[in-house]
Amino acid sequence: MTEAGFPLSRADAFQRLQSFLPTAGRAYARLRNKDQGKGRHVHVSRLSPAVRRRLITEAEIIETVLAHHDLASAEKFVSEVFWRSYWKGWLEQRPTLWPNYRAALERAKDRLDASADLRLRHEAAIDARTGIDCFDAWVEELNVTGYLHNWARMQFASIWIFTLGLPWELGAAFLFDRLIDADPASNTLSWRWVAGLHTVGKVYLADAGRIRSMTNGRFSPTGLAHTAIIPTDSLQTPQPAAVRPFARPNPSAPTLLLLTSEDLSPETSQEMHGLPVRAIACIDGCNTWDRMAMADGMERACKA
Ligand SMILES: Cc1cc2nc3c(=O)[nH]c(=O)nc-3n(C[C@H](O)[C@H](O)[C@H](O)COP(=O)(O)OP(=O)(O)OC[C@H]3O[C@@H](n4cnc5c(N)ncnc54)[C@H](O)[C@@H]3O)c2cc1C
Repeated sequence: MTEAGFPLSRADAFQRLQSFLPTAGRAYARLRNKDQGKGRHVHVSRLSPAVRRRLITEAEIIETVLAHHDLASAEKFVSEVFWRSYWKGWLEQRPTLWPNYRAALERAKDRLDASADLRLRHEAAIDARTGIDCFDAWVEELNVTGYLHNWARMQFASIWIFTLGLPWELGAAFLFDRLIDADPASNTLSWRWVAGLHTVGKVYLADAGRIRSMTNGRFSPTGLAHTAIIPTDSLQTPQPAAVRPFARPNPSAPTLLLLTSEDLSPETSQEMHGLPVRAIACIDGCNTWDRMAMADGMERACKA
């Protein structure tokens, strides 16, 4: 578990799931959008750092929850877990979108170099100096914990794009570099959804009154945009391609198991059982959180 209480081992992920089970039903549907503030996100599971690295799988979460609640009670939680699978599948079918996004990000950085006004607004945003109380507090929470509540992420992205008038690509990169659950699919595509680029024309516009109410009056932001100007689609959304065929391992060939922080529960894969694994290697993670999760994955892989 991290200092801020996020699970980064398989055992901690299951323990968190068990303690969250009573909340995963109707309480989740009713309260999940309440942002209680740093260290108090008790209405949501906080499992994302573990799911993102497949320390626990979506299937394991859903099976456990449905053994405890009927589907009618747990529908909201189950559908949120499926958002993750939806974004992953959507990106997998459009593999050029990620490199196109990275190229668009470089163009957005060039725009910062070319415009002093844009640069100053961007610096104020990333330094938590916008004067928009909730936004500045969320930057600080993100810097300290690596986590923001889903509903706060939606407000954050909306304020970044529509109130501060900053390129969405820079905002997505800002979050990606700090999130403990940073995920190319969920992050990039959620930003595009807020910006009105995913469901074309459907934007998410943050509202001051709703922010006040969902944060129990902790924030009372002023000056938020009342209209949304949808940015031009810098990525020109590609058409879906067929999903790549799965390359099955040869059960009689000596096998090298390569662990990455994309999948740290190889022992749960049917394909792995009985393979003559001769060596296990890992790709070092990008940050301390990846390395914590990798140490757990390696330990289990070596025992299996
Ligand atoms: C702008 C923006 C950026 C985001 N970036 C990321 C990211 O980089 N990585 C990431 O994992 N999620 C991202 N999300 C989705 C969501 O905010 C997080 O998955 C969620 O806040 C994680 O907290 P939790 O585990 O307590 O969620 P819970 O509410 O307990 O949900 C359980 C699980 O369902 C999945 N899930 C829930 N809501 C969503 C959602 N809207 N989209 C996709 N999956 C969801 C997650 O795997 C989560 O762990 C982003 C959302 C927005 C609006």
